[in-house]
Amino acid sequence: MAKLRWLVGALVAIALGLILGHLQPAPVVAQNAAPNVAPAVAAPTLATAGLTLENLGNGAYALIADVDIPPPEGRAICNGGFVVGSEGVLVIDPFQTPALANLLFDTVQTVTDKPIRYVLNTHYHADHTGGNPAAVGRGIPIVGRGPIRELMNTRNRANDPNLRAPDLVINSDTEFWLGDRAVQVSRVEGHAAGTDLVAYVPSAKVLYAGDMVFHERIPFIGDGNIRQWQGSLYRLIATYPEAKVVPGHGSITDVKGLQSMQRYFSDLVNLALSWRAQNLTREQAIAQSSETPAPYKNYRFQALYATGVPGLPGNLETAYDQIARSAAIPLVP
Ligand SMILES: [Zn+2]
Repeated sequence: MAKLRWLVGALVAIALGLILGHLQPAPVVAQNAAPNVAPAVAAPTLATAGLTLENLGNGAYALIADVDIPPPEGRAICNGGFVVGSEGVLVIDPFQTPALANLLFDTVQTVTDKPIRYVLNTHYHADHTGGNPAAVGRGIPIVGRGPIRELMNTRNRANDPNLRAPDLVINSDTEFWLGDRAVQVSRVEGHAAGTDLVAYVPSAKVLYAGDMVFHERIPFIGDGNIRQWQGSLYRLIATYPEAKVVPGHGSITDVKGLQSMQRYFSDLVNLALSWRAQNLTREQAIAQSSETPAPYKNYRFQALYATGVPGLPGNLETAYDQIARSAAIPLVP
């Protein structure tokens, strides 16, 4: 079992590396560099990173990424955000490189002169945490949950030797106060191996949902647990029925975005149960169902639907292993 877990971890790290590997920060060269030195590589801008700044009111902001996979070089893969209070700022998910994190920090300073007090990682995946070293460089503490340090150091480090894991690890639901404004950080389960967090700003009714929500994108579930994820969505819908929702990937939504995720999982589970009823092998099941169903045809991240990108389990494969396989084959080989 431990070996299997290591293998899955290694596969995920390799695959995330394939997706993220070419996105290491580009060296920044002075604009007026003398001739015969390396050509100037400009620092990213919101436009080159494919990011749009959205003001959600009452101090809540989001940076929304316009991207598909594989991402063009320099594009942000996930969404980021920040919350401004009377005495400081909390930043959520500093993207996949320090250059993009610095862009996020500089964007904060275009709307407030308050200091950035914390950087929050909604989970350990490299597209949300690769920017952490930029926070360390500015002396800003990084907050994460549960086994995030171990998972970053074992699974992400091969592709990012300079990564910085959070130095503040929380293991309970926690309130961060920014002077007059609170951010409630809560644990959820299902996407990223015990490291998932969501952040809610009561005064703005804004929920930063991390990768619990992929809005109009095929979610990455190869490192997740479908049943736990379904349970967390149910709880988020019941707890935040009126919230604006900033997803980990995709445009800003609300409870409808949470419900769309619920439907996606419910369809996937029903599909896997139908494979089980037909006694299909994994290969037969995936061959029978490899075409994306109509409701999800226009979603981005199509590469994750059936068999995934090389080395990364696709969603049909994950559903087979977690739902269909469990009846016919013992869970422990
Ligand atoms: Zn993720």
